[in-house]
Amino acid sequence: MRLPRLLAYYRAYPEFDGYSDEQCRKLLLQARLRRGDAAWVLPLLAAGGFAAAWSVIALGLVRIAAALLGLTLTGESTLLGVFMFVTPAFIVVYSWVRRSMLVRSVRRLVNRAACPFCEFSLVGLPVKINTVRCPECGEKVRLSEHGIRHEDLRPGLPYPPSSAGEWARRA
Ligand SMILES: [Zn+2]
Repeated sequence: MRLPRLLAYYRAYPEFDGYSDEQCRKLLLQARLRRGDAAWVLPLLAAGGFAAAWSVIALGLVRIAAALLGLTLTGESTLLGVFMFVTPAFIVVYSWVRRSMLVRSVRRLVNRAACPFCEFSLVGLPVKINTVRCPECGEKVRLSEHGIRHEDLRPGLPYPPSSAGEWARRA
């Protein structure tokens, strides 16, 4: 796996399909600005809480490992062992919470007009008498009933180009 691919974690989420890497980064930046401090405070709290709970289990694991290997544990080596278990867990939870927060934010940015039944974006679809038929789940979506405005369906940026082609083909 190439490094840029590894860093471009957003490729794992369907929300970003059809956007270029540059557009993805712009969307993520927008999301980060929208969330403000919450974008790092909430992941930090979640990761801290998880690490605290995990350290109890880690302490047990370190003791079991030491017993199996016939090692005697000093205070320092116990601490080091626990640290080695807890640090990766902290990093994983922190980035996971942060990513899901940002991706959720991007989804809201992109899907201003999401289908209320399946969350598929209804942007660019033809409106017939205040109603749009969702191409994904087939439900008839009455716009006024779901608080969707006509402007929300008008394609503008950010807007996935590949989906535009997809819809053009279906129409
Ligand atoms: Zn739908």
